Amino acid sequence: ITSVQLTQHYLDRISQYDADINAYVTVTPELAIAMAKEADEKLAAGKGELLTGIPVAHKDIFCTDGVKTSCSSKMLDNFIAPYDAHVVTQLKKVGMPILGKTNMDEFAMGSTSESSYYGPTKNPWDLNAVPGGSSGGAAAVIAAGLAPMATGTDTGGSIRQPASFCGITGIKPTYGSVSRFGIVAYASSFDQAGPMTRSAEDSAWMLNAMAGFDERDSTSLERETPDYAAELGQSLKGLKIGVPAEYFGDGLDPEVEKIVRDAIAEVEKLGAETVEVHLPNKDLAVPSYYVLAPAEASSNLSRFDGVRFGHRCENPKDLEDLYKRSRSEGFGAEVKRRIMVGAYALSAGFYDAYYLKAQKLRRMVRDDFTKAFESCDVIMGPVAPSPAFNIGEKSDDQVSMYLSDLYTIPVNLAGLPGLSVPAGFVNNRPVGLHIVGPYFSEAKLLNIGHQFQ
Ligand code: GLN
Repeated sequence: ITSVQLTQHYLDRISQYDADINAYVTVTPELAIAMAKEADEKLAAGKGELLTGIPVAHKDIFCTDGVKTSCSSKMLDNFIAPYDAHVVTQLKKVGMPILGKTNMDEFAMGSTSESSYYGPTKNPWDLNAVPGGSSGGAAAVIAAGLAPMATGTDTGGSIRQPASFCGITGIKPTYGSVSRFGIVAYASSFDQAGPMTRSAEDSAWMLNAMAGFDERDSTSLERETPDYAAELGQSLKGLKIGVPAEYFGDGLDPEVEKIVRDAIAEVEKLGAETVEVHLPNKDLAVPSYYVLAPAEASSNLSRFDGVRFGHRCENPKDLEDLYKRSRSEGFGAEVKRRIMVGAYALSAGFYDAYYLKAQKLRRMVRDDFTKAFESCDVIMGPVAPSPAFNIGEKSDDQVSMYLSDLYTIPVNLAGLPGLSVPAGFVNNRPVGLHIVGPYFSEAKLLNIGHQFQ
């Protein structure tokens, strides 16, 4: 099969099914086919790499040269990126044709993909359910077979939670492993890009292409890029799995708990053993995150002023009116809420009480993990407390939505790698297993996921 045939196959499926799922914001058929032709030439010349010719869908947060990059916001509805994000460049180099850009929560703020300016994405397993978020479009295209591979970003769980809700595999790498250059910034000290695929093996290959030092991102790690596929197939004999007692308490759906416990038992059968560990400060993670992430967002989003990027109001009276109306019209409700919370937390007089305190909590959450990893190799638990909920079910209850990220957010606070692999179903809605490891343990996590699958 040629890349052109494969790419056309996905384009056909997109025209057939995406009207119901709404997973793509933009489809780029001409670009995809042109890139597929180039990939076929590269392959014919014997210059192909492993992923050459395999199409990919990019979350609409990655700047894509000449293609609309909206972040699913009215603010950027008219924004054609003038350059590629580092990740996009990397995957272009390998020769992966771009099928289009996937839907998401506006500016990646959310857990359901409902806050998109282009309407919610539906979960392919059950069209009444959300696909998770913010990378809900990316997870849905993989689950529905509308792309074989997709990129996502994870600030507080946005790769892992939609992966869990849609029954696919997604990994958030160690902070600094993948360049943030050209990714529309949400909370810069948390944001990390990663692959969203059908299998852990696919994620390993894709991460190999995405990761690596980039001098254009000041937090990019200057170290040799590891081979993320290096451990695939290695025995799990002797692996110590930490099971955090605090992650199986109140609020966890009993059916999800059963799936996760059964999954851990499966990995034990492969030669691993379990030890109980403790993450006593887990309840501090969500409050810390919801000060720090909005604080960073309020600063990052100040660049959208109606002058340089995106939406500009009509007939402004003066500069202040231009700022005010462009921002009021361009941003949706959740984004405005975060900007206000963040600006408040950073304002003079409140800085010590909120921002500084939240930073201290962040350190405590990270120290919990450091301590836990003294007695285990990886930690396993749920990705989210429930399977996908119904569209509309939580859209008016922000606090309950925020709280549902309690298992994923600590991992971002600490900057650790975390993987979600499909583990089972509750009423035809998928549930993932969350595997978290020490810094740079991606290859190990991916091998565990691979063996488990
Ligand atoms: N749901 C979390 C938030 O709204 C995480 C989102 C993300 O990881 N981008 O901030």
